[in-house]
Amino acid sequence: MNRRSEAGGIGYGQLALLAVLLVLLFVVRHYTERGRVIRYDRVLMCSACNHIWGGNLDTGAQFPVRCPKCSQQAGGFAYRCEKCQALLPFIPQPSAMPICPKCKSTDCARLEEIPSGTSP
Ligand SMILES: [Zn+2]
Ligand SMILES: [Zn+2]
Repeated sequence: MNRRSEAGGIGYGQLALLAVLLVLLFVVRHYTERGRVIRYDRVLMCSACNHIWGGNLDTGAQFPVRCPKCSQQAGGFAYRCEKCQALLPFIPQPSAMPICPKCKSTDCARLEEIPSGTSP
């Protein structure tokens, strides 16, 4: 015989525990939201005016994105050339790779933070 423990659904004790857990989750979330350091999800760069800014992009965002400075649809991800440290905008396209405009190197890494000295 297959004996199931506590047959007949969830007891009051379990319900109370669940409620406490939910409240805890809410409180923890609340705190982390408030205390979190604001970091830009994406560092973007305009291929028209070289403006660098940070933005939260949707996963379905269409490139090129609109530049907040010159208002042109010319924004891509900001990349840095590993060879000569030049910054370059890269607009994601199928079978396209970021290439450094200075030394033509393809050894480029996406910027994770806005470089100091540039206004956001
Ligand atoms: Zn621009
Ligand atoms: Zn380079």
